[in-house]
Amino acid sequence: MADPKKFDKQLSVVIPVYNEEESLPALSARIYPVLDALGMDYELVFVDDGSGDRSVAFLREQFQRRPDVTRVVLLQSNFGQHAAILAGFAHARGQWVVTLDADLQNPPEEIPRLLEKMGEGYDYVGTIRRKRQDSWWRMAASRLMNRIRERITRVRMTDQGCMLRAYSHTITDAINSTAEVTTFIPALAYLYASKPTEISVEHEERAHGKSKYSLYKLLRLNFDLVTSFSVVPLELFSFFGLILASLSAMLVIYLAIQRIFFGPQVQGIFTLFGIVFFLIGVILFGIGLLGEYIGRIYRQVQQRPRYLISAVLERNDPAT
Ligand code: UDP
Ligand code: MG
Repeated sequence: MADPKKFDKQLSVVIPVYNEEESLPALSARIYPVLDALGMDYELVFVDDGSGDRSVAFLREQFQRRPDVTRVVLLQSNFGQHAAILAGFAHARGQWVVTLDADLQNPPEEIPRLLEKMGEGYDYVGTIRRKRQDSWWRMAASRLMNRIRERITRVRMTDQGCMLRAYSHTITDAINSTAEVTTFIPALAYLYASKPTEISVEHEERAHGKSKYSLYKLLRLNFDLVTSFSVVPLELFSFFGLILASLSAMLVIYLAIQRIFFGPQVQGIFTLFGIVFFLIGVILFGIGLLGEYIGRIYRQVQQRPRYLISAVLERNDPAT
């Protein structure tokens, strides 16, 4: 039998790290005291997502400093934030799992409030950023995306962007056994949760380094979010196609009647062109949309691993 995973900790805190050498010292200076003060049996699981800077060296030192509560998973290369979190879930041994970003945008001081909610019996605690500190175009874009997502998927999240969240381990296990290639963890977790809730938390500006998300990556994430949770775009498209087809059928009949009773007609040819171009645009959009779904299938059938681990730093506990 495969290694039966033990849940011998009360709490696992999973932190994906990608080129965060400037934030890590401040992060550990703040997060360890918070977690120590909880009086819980906890562990911190750092997942290095193929950083090219001194992050790994720092994590190694940190592991030396607190081997009792620190575990470090090193990925072979950059697999993306969500893959890194999945790797963290696979190694987490806590009954409860909290995720947060390494860049200190999510204050570690909020963790106790999340746990309080978990203690009240919720199995998923989402967060809403009280005063979001991001550029205006990101705020506008996420407002729009939220609205679209709420309409066409079952996922209800006031604020999809904030990664400071708490899950019960049944949810993280379910997420881990879902073999989806590109996944959006908070949304998936919401689907699996039986008693979800949300609280509002502080949000700070990124103190060091740059956001790892370019506009392109954000767009990709949002496309994935929609296409992996809903086929409504495809359905809308066929609906639209049906209407257009009926309208153009009527147009053809009308033109045929015109031709028979009034003879050939050349005027209005540009209108016709306009209509044709519009239809071509609609068709291209549809092909692109199909491509999104086919792309997902393509990546899924390849069955490539979502991440590759190069090393795990953890103390070999003789007791476990
Ligand atoms: N991150 C990661 N792999 C990536 C990109 C980001 O592990 O490919 C980590 C990053 O180190 C940080 C978190 O994911 O801890 C969020 O990244 P970032 O702050 O760049 O995202 P934003 O806050 O701008 O959404
Ligand atoms: Mg950030």
